[in-house]
Amino acid sequence: MESRISGTTGLLALIGSPVGHSGSPAMYNYSFQKLGLDYAYVAFDVKEDKVKDAIQAMKTFHMRGCNVTMPDKVEVVKYMDELSPAAQIIGAVNTIVNDDGKLTGHMTDGEGFVKNLKAHGIDVKGKKVTVAGGGGAATAIQVQCALDGAKAISIFNRKDAFFERTLQTAEKIKKACPDCDVNVYDIDDIAKMTEEIKSSDIFANATIVGMKPLDDQSVVKDTSAFRPGLVVADAVYNPTETKLLREAKEAGCTCVGGKGMLLWQGVAAFKLYTGQDMPVEEVREKFF
Ligand code: NAD
Repeated sequence: MESRISGTTGLLALIGSPVGHSGSPAMYNYSFQKLGLDYAYVAFDVKEDKVKDAIQAMKTFHMRGCNVTMPDKVEVVKYMDELSPAAQIIGAVNTIVNDDGKLTGHMTDGEGFVKNLKAHGIDVKGKKVTVAGGGGAATAIQVQCALDGAKAISIFNRKDAFFERTLQTAEKIKKACPDCDVNVYDIDDIAKMTEEIKSSDIFANATIVGMKPLDDQSVVKDTSAFRPGLVVADAVYNPTETKLLREAKEAGCTCVGGKGMLLWQGVAAFKLYTGQDMPVEEVREKFF
């Protein structure tokens, strides 16, 4: 590192709180070094009330960009000069690109999901997708699938604080992508969920079910809709293989884990910052 950093090195960072656990600095710095790019990447603990200062600092230091994690993803939106179509619909940003002081906000989580499917030979275009969840990851997945040409999206969520947001997301998608048939259902309606998965090409879990402490649970209570040909994807990446994926694998479904989504959202951000492709296979081997 000391031989790489010079007076011309450009800075990128992750902002959010907490950030100490993040694998992003290692992944980005490895890729910069590998490709001979004169950038360095660090993590700054920035709480919501300091977002304005952080954005100003980003401009002052001519930083090339920032990744944004919780709790800052919504707060940063008001400081953007432009938003990508996905960030515009979602109202949240996880990647900021600084072009000589002009800030563009992107949301690459959904792109990560779609690109990860592509890496498994699966295209969402023309497909029916059922998604469990209405939080950050789920919204990003739903919006990106619609933008990338999914023909229908069925959304299931609990009647909790996220349900209203789920209904709003559905309305926004319908407006932006009128050809996509979007419906929202109560996740406790197990019969409806089974019916929707039966007529879907892809099922995705983007709730916290499957992740600790809910790692002994699956969001799909009736697995009778699982079959060969159905793609089952999980946004949960820890554990690598959730109960959902285990059960789907047993039923012969094509299974896609959440780690790939994490990797590919980073690949998408890397491209936006540098215009180059992250060395995906090496990064996967070393860090995932
Ligand atoms: P969030 O807090 O924004 O949303 C939580 C969602 O889980 C909501 O829809 C909520 O209704 C639902 N939920 C909570 N408890 C539930 C229960 N008992 N039964 C059914 N639904 C329940 O969270 P998020 O940021 O969207 O993260 C969701 C998951 O996705 C987490 O496991 C997170 O680690 C993962 N994630 C993965 C990636 C990736 O790149 N792979 C990116 C972001 C998030």
